Amino acid sequence: MDGQRRILEDHSVAVDNGKIVAVEKTADLEKNHSGVEVLDASGCIVMPGIICAHSHLYGMLLRGAPMRITPPSDFTQILQRVWWPMDEMMNYEDAYASGLVGCIAFAKSGVTTFADTYSGPNSISGVLDYIARAVNEVGIKGFIAFEATERHSKDEGSRGVKENVRFAEEAQSKHDSKAKPLFSIHASFTVSDDLIREVKRFATQYRVPITIHTSEGLADVHHNLEKYGKRTVERLQDVGLLGPNVILAHCVNLNDKEVDIIGQTGTGVAHNAMSNMLNAVGVSPLLHMLEKNITVGLGNDGYIFDMFENMRATFLLHRVYHRDPNAIDPYTILEMATVKGAKLYGIDKEVGSIEVGKKADLIIIKPSILPTPLNASSVVGHLINTVAGNDVEHVLIDGKLIVKSKKLLTFNEGQAQSISQAAAAKLWTRLEAMKPQVDTLR
Ligand SMILES: [Zn+2]
Repeated sequence: MDGQRRILEDHSVAVDNGKIVAVEKTADLEKNHSGVEVLDASGCIVMPGIICAHSHLYGMLLRGAPMRITPPSDFTQILQRVWWPMDEMMNYEDAYASGLVGCIAFAKSGVTTFADTYSGPNSISGVLDYIARAVNEVGIKGFIAFEATERHSKDEGSRGVKENVRFAEEAQSKHDSKAKPLFSIHASFTVSDDLIREVKRFATQYRVPITIHTSEGLADVHHNLEKYGKRTVERLQDVGLLGPNVILAHCVNLNDKEVDIIGQTGTGVAHNAMSNMLNAVGVSPLLHMLEKNITVGLGNDGYIFDMFENMRATFLLHRVYHRDPNAIDPYTILEMATVKGAKLYGIDKEVGSIEVGKKADLIIIKPSILPTPLNASSVVGHLINTVAGNDVEHVLIDGKLIVKSKKLLTFNEGQAQSISQAAAAKLWTRLEAMKPQVDTLR
Protein backbone atom coordinates (compact mmCIF):
# COMPACT_ATOMS: atom_id res chain seq x y z
CA MET A 1 0.00 0.00 0.00
CA ASP A 2 2.94 2.34 -0.55
CA GLY A 3 2.98 4.85 -3.42
CA GLN A 4 4.45 2.24 -5.77
CA ARG A 5 1.88 -0.44 -4.89
CA ARG A 6 4.71 -2.89 -4.20
CA ILE A 7 3.92 -6.50 -3.36
CA LEU A 8 6.93 -8.33 -1.95
CA GLU A 9 7.20 -12.11 -1.94
CA ASP A 10 9.34 -14.01 0.56
CA HIS A 11 9.98 -10.90 2.63
CA SER A 12 9.87 -10.24 6.35
CA VAL A 13 9.08 -7.19 8.43
CA ALA A 14 11.19 -6.24 11.43
CA VAL A 15 9.50 -4.32 14.22
CA ASP A 16 11.13 -2.50 17.09
CA ASN A 17 9.71 -0.16 19.67
CA GLY A 18 6.31 -0.17 17.96
CA LYS A 19 7.64 0.81 14.54
CA ILE A 20 8.61 -0.91 11.31
CA VAL A 21 12.41 -0.83 11.16
CA ALA A 22 13.08 -3.06 8.15
CA VAL A 23 11.31 -4.73 5.23
CA GLU A 24 13.77 -7.13 3.60
CA LYS A 25 14.13 -10.50 1.94
CA THR A 26 13.55 -13.05 4.68
CA ALA A 27 17.06 -14.52 4.35
CA ASP A 28 18.69 -11.07 4.63
CA LEU A 29 16.54 -10.00 7.49
CA GLU A 30 17.31 -13.16 9.44
CA LYS A 31 21.03 -12.42 9.04
CA ASN A 32 20.66 -8.78 10.10
CA HIS A 33 18.31 -9.35 13.04
CA SER A 34 19.32 -12.46 14.99
CA GLY A 35 18.07 -13.37 18.46
CA VAL A 36 14.71 -11.66 18.08
CA GLU A 37 11.19 -12.89 18.68
CA VAL A 38 9.77 -14.32 15.44
CA LEU A 39 6.13 -14.51 14.38
CA ASP A 40 5.91 -17.09 11.60
CA ALA A 41 3.85 -15.75 8.72
CA SER A 42 4.93 -18.22 6.07
CA GLY A 43 2.19 -18.91 3.56
CA CYS A 44 0.32 -15.87 4.87
CA ILE A 45 -0.46 -12.36 3.66
CA VAL A 46 1.05 -9.54 5.71
CA MET A 47 -0.70 -6.27 5.09
CA PRO A 48 -1.27 -2.95 6.84
CA GLY A 49 -4.09 -2.92 9.38
CA ILE A 50 -7.42 -1.93 7.93
CA ILE A 51 -8.87 1.51 8.66
CA CYS A 52 -12.64 1.73 8.98
CA ALA A 53 -13.38 5.35 8.10
CA HIS A 54 -16.93 5.56 9.46
CA SER A 55 -18.68 3.51 12.11
CA HIS A 56 -21.21 3.49 14.95
CA LEU A 57 -20.18 0.96 17.57
CA TYR A 58 -23.48 1.44 19.42
CA GLY A 59 -25.29 -0.15 16.49
CA MET A 60 -24.04 -3.49 17.83
CA LEU A 61 -26.83 -3.53 20.43
CA LEU A 62 -29.62 -3.18 17.85
CA ARG A 63 -29.03 -6.59 16.27
CA GLY A 64 -32.21 -8.60 16.65
CA ALA A 65 -33.85 -5.94 18.82
CA PRO A 66 -37.65 -6.22 19.17
CA MET A 67 -38.70 -3.22 17.10
CA ARG A 68 -42.35 -3.91 16.32
CA ILE A 69 -42.95 -0.89 14.16
CA THR A 70 -44.56 -0.15 10.86
CA PRO A 71 -41.76 -0.96 8.43
CA PRO A 72 -40.02 2.22 7.29
CA SER A 73 -40.46 3.03 3.63
CA ASP A 74 -37.55 5.43 3.29
CA PHE A 75 -34.33 6.47 5.01
CA THR A 76 -35.83 9.29 7.09
CA GLN A 77 -38.37 6.84 8.49
CA ILE A 78 -35.53 4.42 9.30
CA LEU A 79 -34.03 7.18 11.46
CA GLN A 80 -37.39 8.15 12.98
CA ARG A 81 -38.66 4.65 13.69
CA VAL A 82 -35.48 2.66 14.38
CA TRP A 83 -32.34 4.65 15.20
CA TRP A 84 -33.71 7.64 17.08
CA PRO A 85 -35.99 5.72 19.47
CA MET A 86 -33.07 3.38 20.10
CA ASP A 87 -30.40 6.01 20.72
CA GLU A 88 -32.73 7.84 23.13
CA MET A 89 -32.73 4.68 25.26
CA MET A 90 -28.94 4.33 25.23
CA ASN A 91 -27.12 4.86 28.53
CA TYR A 92 -23.47 4.93 29.60
CA GLU A 93 -23.39 1.20 30.28
CA ASP A 94 -24.62 0.58 26.72
CA ALA A 95 -21.97 2.89 25.28
CA TYR A 96 -19.23 0.91 27.02
CA ALA A 97 -20.74 -2.50 26.24
CA SER A 98 -21.27 -1.79 22.56
CA GLY A 99 -17.85 -0.14 22.39
CA LEU A 100 -16.26 -3.27 23.78
CA VAL A 101 -17.87 -5.78 21.40
CA GLY A 102 -17.48 -3.39 18.47
CA CYS A 103 -13.76 -2.91 19.11
CA ILE A 104 -13.31 -6.67 19.48
CA ALA A 105 -15.17 -7.40 16.24
CA PHE A 106 -12.97 -4.89 14.44
CA ALA A 107 -9.69 -6.07 15.97
CA LYS A 108 -10.34 -9.75 15.31
CA SER A 109 -11.13 -9.10 11.65
CA GLY A 110 -8.07 -6.97 11.01
CA VAL A 111 -9.18 -3.40 11.66
CA THR A 112 -6.49 -1.52 13.56
CA THR A 113 -7.98 2.00 13.40
CA PHE A 114 -11.60 3.11 13.15
CA ALA A 115 -13.63 6.32 13.34
CA ASP A 116 -16.75 6.13 15.48
CA THR A 117 -19.58 8.49 16.21
CA TYR A 118 -21.86 7.80 19.15
CA SER A 119 -25.41 9.08 19.34
CA GLY A 120 -27.57 9.22 22.47
CA PRO A 121 -29.43 12.36 23.63
CA ASN A 122 -29.76 10.96 27.16
CA SER A 123 -26.12 9.96 27.59
CA ILE A 124 -24.05 12.90 26.41
CA SER A 125 -21.80 14.39 29.05
CA GLY A 126 -18.82 12.14 29.76
CA VAL A 127 -19.89 9.33 27.43
CA LEU A 128 -16.68 9.41 25.39
CA ASP A 129 -14.74 8.25 28.46
CA TYR A 130 -16.81 5.04 28.44
CA ILE A 131 -16.05 4.41 24.78
CA ALA A 132 -12.38 5.35 25.26
CA ARG A 133 -12.19 2.79 28.05
CA ALA A 134 -13.37 0.07 25.64
CA VAL A 135 -10.90 1.23 22.97
CA ASN A 136 -7.97 1.11 25.38
CA GLU A 137 -8.98 -2.19 26.97
CA VAL A 138 -9.05 -3.85 23.54
CA GLY A 139 -5.91 -2.01 22.42
CA ILE A 140 -7.28 -0.90 19.04
CA LYS A 141 -6.99 2.70 17.77
CA GLY A 142 -10.17 4.74 17.52
CA PHE A 143 -11.17 8.27 16.64
CA ILE A 144 -14.25 8.75 18.77
CA ALA A 145 -16.91 11.45 18.81
CA PHE A 146 -20.33 12.32 20.08
CA GLU A 147 -22.69 13.02 17.18
CA ALA A 148 -23.91 16.57 17.79
CA THR A 149 -27.51 17.15 16.69
CA GLU A 150 -30.22 19.73 17.31
CA ARG A 151 -33.01 17.34 16.46
CA HIS A 152 -34.73 18.06 19.83
CA SER A 153 -33.30 21.44 20.79
CA LYS A 154 -30.41 23.88 20.45
CA ASP A 155 -29.35 22.90 23.95
CA GLU A 156 -28.95 19.27 22.90
CA GLY A 157 -26.62 20.43 20.12
CA SER A 158 -24.53 22.52 22.50
CA ARG A 159 -24.15 19.64 24.92
CA GLY A 160 -22.99 17.37 22.11
CA VAL A 161 -20.37 19.86 20.95
CA LYS A 162 -19.28 20.44 24.56
CA GLU A 163 -18.66 16.71 25.08
CA ASN A 164 -16.38 16.60 22.02
CA VAL A 165 -14.54 19.72 23.19
CA ARG A 166 -14.09 18.23 26.68
CA PHE A 167 -12.67 15.02 25.24
CA ALA A 168 -10.39 16.87 22.79
CA GLU A 169 -9.12 19.09 25.59
CA GLU A 170 -8.35 16.17 27.89
CA ALA A 171 -6.85 14.09 25.05
CA GLN A 172 -4.06 16.66 24.70
CA SER A 173 -2.43 15.33 27.85
CA LYS A 174 -3.30 11.65 27.34
CA HIS A 175 -0.66 10.66 24.81
CA ASP A 176 -0.84 6.96 25.70
CA SER A 177 -4.55 6.67 24.99
CA LYS A 178 -5.47 4.87 21.79
CA ALA A 179 -8.76 6.81 21.72
CA LYS A 180 -8.29 10.05 19.81
CA PRO A 181 -10.75 12.92 19.48
CA LEU A 182 -13.03 13.49 16.52
CA PHE A 183 -15.79 16.06 16.07
CA SER A 184 -19.04 14.73 14.69
CA ILE A 185 -22.08 16.58 13.40
CA HIS A 186 -25.05 14.34 12.71
CA ALA A 187 -26.24 15.72 9.36
CA SER A 188 -27.01 19.05 7.78
CA PHE A 189 -30.78 18.58 8.16
CA THR A 190 -30.58 18.30 11.96
CA VAL A 191 -28.24 21.21 12.71
CA SER A 192 -28.08 24.99 12.23
CA ASP A 193 -25.32 26.93 10.48
CA ASP A 194 -24.29 28.26 13.90
CA LEU A 195 -23.59 24.78 15.22
CA ILE A 196 -21.56 23.87 12.13
CA ARG A 197 -19.47 27.05 12.48
CA GLU A 198 -18.93 26.41 16.18
CA VAL A 199 -17.71 22.86 15.52
CA LYS A 200 -15.38 24.10 12.77
CA ARG A 201 -13.91 26.68 15.15
CA PHE A 202 -13.24 24.12 17.90
CA ALA A 203 -11.92 21.51 15.48
CA THR A 204 -9.46 24.05 14.07
CA GLN A 205 -8.42 25.11 17.56
CA TYR A 206 -7.77 21.53 18.74
CA ARG A 207 -6.58 20.24 15.34
CA VAL A 208 -9.17 17.49 15.30
CA PRO A 209 -10.95 16.09 12.20
CA ILE A 210 -14.68 16.61 11.68
CA THR A 211 -17.18 14.20 10.23
CA ILE A 212 -20.78 14.75 9.11
CA HIS A 213 -23.34 12.52 7.37
CA THR A 214 -23.82 14.13 3.97
CA SER A 215 -26.71 13.52 1.58
CA GLU A 216 -27.05 9.94 2.71
CA GLY A 217 -30.78 10.01 2.00
CA LEU A 218 -32.76 12.67 0.16
CA ALA A 219 -33.75 14.43 3.39
CA ASP A 220 -30.59 16.57 3.42
CA VAL A 221 -31.00 17.58 -0.19
CA HIS A 222 -34.66 18.58 0.18
CA HIS A 223 -34.12 20.32 3.53
CA ASN A 224 -31.20 22.39 2.27
CA LEU A 225 -32.86 23.28 -1.02
CA GLU A 226 -36.08 24.36 0.69
CA LYS A 227 -34.56 26.19 3.65
CA TYR A 228 -31.37 27.61 2.13
CA GLY A 229 -31.85 27.33 -1.62
CA LYS A 230 -28.66 25.29 -1.79
CA ARG A 231 -27.74 21.67 -2.20
CA THR A 232 -26.08 20.02 0.81
CA VAL A 233 -22.44 20.38 -0.19
CA GLU A 234 -23.05 23.96 -1.39
CA ARG A 235 -24.44 24.87 2.02
CA LEU A 236 -21.57 23.16 3.86
CA GLN A 237 -19.11 25.07 1.70
CA ASP A 238 -20.86 28.42 2.25
CA VAL A 239 -20.86 27.85 6.01
CA GLY A 240 -17.09 27.32 5.81
CA LEU A 241 -17.03 23.70 6.94
CA LEU A 242 -15.22 22.00 4.07
CA GLY A 243 -11.49 21.29 3.90
CA PRO A 244 -8.89 18.55 4.21
CA ASN A 245 -9.68 17.75 7.85
CA VAL A 246 -13.36 17.09 7.08
CA ILE A 247 -14.80 13.66 6.26
CA LEU A 248 -18.21 13.59 4.60
CA ALA A 249 -19.89 10.26 5.29
CA HIS A 250 -21.91 8.64 2.48
CA CYS A 251 -22.25 11.37 -0.21
CA VAL A 252 -24.91 9.34 -2.03
CA ASN A 253 -27.15 12.07 -3.41
CA LEU A 254 -24.68 14.50 -4.96
CA ASN A 255 -24.72 16.29 -8.29
CA ASP A 256 -21.62 16.99 -10.39
CA LYS A 257 -21.16 20.46 -8.96
CA GLU A 258 -21.07 19.07 -5.43
CA VAL A 259 -18.43 16.50 -6.43
CA ASP A 260 -16.38 19.37 -7.88
CA ILE A 261 -16.67 21.35 -4.64
CA ILE A 262 -15.54 18.36 -2.57
CA GLY A 263 -12.55 17.91 -4.89
CA GLN A 264 -11.63 21.60 -4.99
CA THR A 265 -11.74 21.97 -1.20
CA GLY A 266 -9.70 18.81 -0.54
CA THR A 267 -12.52 17.42 1.57
CA GLY A 268 -12.55 13.65 2.21
CA VAL A 269 -15.34 11.10 1.88
CA ALA A 270 -16.18 7.90 3.78
CA HIS A 271 -17.99 5.47 1.49
CA ASN A 272 -20.35 2.93 3.09
CA ALA A 273 -21.55 0.57 0.35
CA MET A 274 -23.17 -2.09 2.56
CA SER A 275 -25.04 0.41 4.71
CA ASN A 276 -26.23 2.27 1.61
CA MET A 277 -27.64 -0.99 0.26
CA LEU A 278 -29.19 -1.88 3.63
CA ASN A 279 -30.91 1.49 3.90
CA ALA A 280 -31.78 1.49 0.20
CA VAL A 281 -30.59 5.09 -0.21
CA GLY A 282 -28.94 4.67 -3.60
CA VAL A 283 -25.43 4.41 -5.03
CA SER A 284 -22.77 6.99 -4.28
CA PRO A 285 -20.93 8.49 -7.30
CA LEU A 286 -17.73 6.81 -6.10
CA LEU A 287 -16.10 6.49 -9.52
CA HIS A 288 -16.70 10.15 -10.27
CA MET A 289 -15.18 11.11 -6.91
CA LEU A 290 -12.13 8.93 -7.55
CA GLU A 291 -11.71 10.52 -11.00
CA LYS A 292 -11.59 13.91 -9.26
CA ASN A 293 -8.80 12.60 -6.97
CA ILE A 294 -11.01 12.89 -3.91
CA THR A 295 -9.67 10.90 -0.96
CA VAL A 296 -12.26 8.22 -0.26
CA GLY A 297 -12.02 5.74 2.62
CA LEU A 298 -14.28 2.81 3.43
CA GLY A 299 -16.67 2.70 6.36
CA ASN A 300 -19.12 0.17 7.73
CA ASP A 301 -21.57 2.71 9.23
CA GLY A 302 -22.00 0.35 12.20
CA TYR A 303 -23.38 -2.43 10.02
CA ILE A 304 -21.10 -5.36 9.03
CA PHE A 305 -17.88 -5.14 11.05
CA ASP A 306 -15.90 -7.45 8.75
CA MET A 307 -14.22 -4.94 6.44
CA PHE A 308 -13.38 -7.64 3.90
CA GLU A 309 -17.13 -7.96 3.36
CA ASN A 310 -17.34 -4.19 2.99
CA MET A 311 -14.50 -4.21 0.46
CA ARG A 312 -16.17 -6.97 -1.52
CA ALA A 313 -19.52 -5.16 -1.48
CA THR A 314 -17.88 -1.96 -2.74
CA PHE A 315 -16.16 -3.91 -5.50
CA LEU A 316 -19.43 -5.53 -6.61
CA LEU A 317 -21.85 -2.63 -6.15
CA HIS A 318 -20.13 -0.29 -8.58
CA ARG A 319 -19.64 -2.98 -11.18
CA VAL A 320 -23.32 -3.86 -11.28
CA TYR A 321 -24.47 -0.26 -10.96
CA HIS A 322 -22.40 0.84 -13.95
CA ARG A 323 -22.89 -2.50 -15.75
CA ASP A 324 -19.13 -2.43 -16.22
CA PRO A 325 -16.92 -5.33 -15.09
CA ASN A 326 -13.95 -2.92 -15.11
CA ALA A 327 -15.69 -0.23 -13.08
CA ILE A 328 -13.25 -0.45 -10.19
CA ASP A 329 -10.11 -2.50 -9.62
CA PRO A 330 -9.38 -4.49 -6.45
CA TYR A 331 -6.22 -2.55 -5.60
CA THR A 332 -8.13 0.74 -5.45
CA ILE A 333 -10.54 -0.89 -2.99
CA LEU A 334 -7.64 -2.06 -0.81
CA GLU A 335 -6.15 1.44 -0.83
CA MET A 336 -9.48 2.88 0.27
CA ALA A 337 -9.50 0.45 3.20
CA THR A 338 -5.93 1.27 4.26
CA VAL A 339 -3.79 4.19 3.13
CA LYS A 340 -6.67 6.38 1.93
CA GLY A 341 -8.49 5.90 5.22
CA ALA A 342 -5.28 6.97 6.96
CA LYS A 343 -5.08 10.07 4.76
CA LEU A 344 -8.66 11.04 5.64
CA TYR A 345 -7.76 11.24 9.31
CA GLY A 346 -4.33 12.83 8.78
CA ILE A 347 -2.42 9.76 9.97
CA ASP A 348 -1.01 8.57 6.63
CA LYS A 349 2.53 9.40 7.71
CA GLU A 350 2.10 6.97 10.61
CA VAL A 351 -0.03 4.09 9.32
CA GLY A 352 -1.81 2.72 6.25
CA SER A 353 1.12 1.03 4.52
CA ILE A 354 4.08 -1.21 5.36
CA GLU A 355 7.03 1.19 5.17
CA VAL A 356 10.08 1.68 7.33
CA GLY A 357 9.44 4.34 9.95
CA LYS A 358 5.70 3.78 10.10
CA LYS A 359 3.95 2.35 13.13
CA ALA A 360 3.70 -1.43 13.14
CA ASP A 361 -0.06 -1.78 12.66
CA LEU A 362 0.04 -5.06 10.79
CA ILE A 363 -2.33 -7.92 10.12
CA ILE A 364 -1.37 -11.44 9.13
CA ILE A 365 -3.92 -13.33 7.08
CA LYS A 366 -4.01 -17.08 6.64
CA PRO A 367 -6.76 -17.87 4.13
CA SER A 368 -8.76 -20.88 5.33
CA ILE A 369 -9.59 -21.79 1.73
CA LEU A 370 -6.97 -21.32 -0.97
CA PRO A 371 -7.97 -23.09 -4.18
CA THR A 372 -5.22 -21.42 -6.22
CA PRO A 373 -1.61 -20.41 -5.46
CA LEU A 374 -0.97 -17.38 -3.29
CA ASN A 375 1.73 -15.19 -4.82
CA ALA A 376 2.45 -11.59 -5.76
CA SER A 377 0.18 -11.67 -8.79
CA SER A 378 -2.74 -13.44 -7.09
CA VAL A 379 -2.72 -11.83 -3.65
CA VAL A 380 -4.86 -8.78 -4.45
CA GLY A 381 -7.48 -10.96 -6.11
CA HIS A 382 -7.46 -13.27 -3.09
CA LEU A 383 -7.87 -10.37 -0.68
CA ILE A 384 -10.99 -9.16 -2.48
CA ASN A 385 -12.45 -12.50 -3.61
CA THR A 386 -11.26 -15.17 -1.16
CA VAL A 387 -10.37 -13.71 2.22
CA ALA A 388 -12.86 -13.01 5.03
CA GLY A 389 -12.33 -11.29 8.35
CA ASN A 390 -12.11 -14.60 10.20
CA ASP A 391 -9.03 -15.51 8.14
CA VAL A 392 -7.11 -12.86 10.09
CA GLU A 393 -4.65 -14.88 12.16
CA HIS A 394 -2.59 -12.25 14.00
CA VAL A 395 -2.98 -8.51 14.59
CA LEU A 396 -0.29 -6.13 15.77
CA ILE A 397 -0.99 -2.57 16.81
CA ASP A 398 2.00 -0.33 17.52
CA GLY A 399 4.07 -3.51 17.34
CA LYS A 400 2.08 -5.19 20.11
CA LEU A 401 0.27 -8.47 19.45
CA ILE A 402 -3.43 -7.86 20.09
CA VAL A 403 -4.71 -10.99 18.35
CA LYS A 404 -2.61 -14.14 18.22
CA SER A 405 -3.79 -17.26 16.39
CA LYS A 406 -7.28 -15.70 16.13
CA LYS A 407 -7.46 -15.21 19.90
CA LEU A 408 -7.79 -11.74 21.41
CA LEU A 409 -5.01 -11.32 23.97
CA THR A 410 -6.16 -8.09 25.57
CA PHE A 411 -9.68 -8.82 26.84
CA ASN A 412 -11.63 -11.95 27.70
CA GLU A 413 -14.02 -12.34 24.77
CA GLY A 414 -16.57 -14.37 26.72
CA GLN A 415 -16.70 -11.68 29.38
CA ALA A 416 -17.16 -8.98 26.74
CA GLN A 417 -20.04 -10.91 25.24
CA SER A 418 -21.69 -11.31 28.65
CA ILE A 419 -21.37 -7.56 29.31
CA SER A 420 -22.86 -6.79 25.90
CA GLN A 421 -25.71 -9.30 26.14
CA ALA A 422 -26.69 -8.08 29.60
CA ALA A 423 -26.72 -4.45 28.40
CA ALA A 424 -28.67 -5.36 25.25
CA ALA A 425 -31.30 -7.31 27.23
CA LYS A 426 -31.93 -4.28 29.45
CA LEU A 427 -31.93 -1.90 26.49
CA TRP A 428 -34.45 -4.07 24.67
CA THR A 429 -36.73 -4.13 27.75
CA ARG A 430 -36.67 -0.32 27.73
CA LEU A 431 -37.39 -0.30 24.00
CA GLU A 432 -40.37 -2.61 24.53
CA ALA A 433 -41.66 -0.33 27.29
CA MET A 434 -41.55 2.73 25.06
CA LYS A 435 -43.30 0.97 22.18
CA PRO A 436 -46.39 3.23 22.22
CA GLN A 437 -44.12 6.23 21.62
CA VAL A 438 -42.46 4.41 18.80
CA ASP A 439 -45.85 3.68 17.35
CA THR A 440 -46.86 7.35 17.38
CA LEU A 441 -44.19 7.88 14.76
CA ARG A 442 -46.23 5.84 12.31
ZN1 LIG B 1 -23.18 6.85 9.92
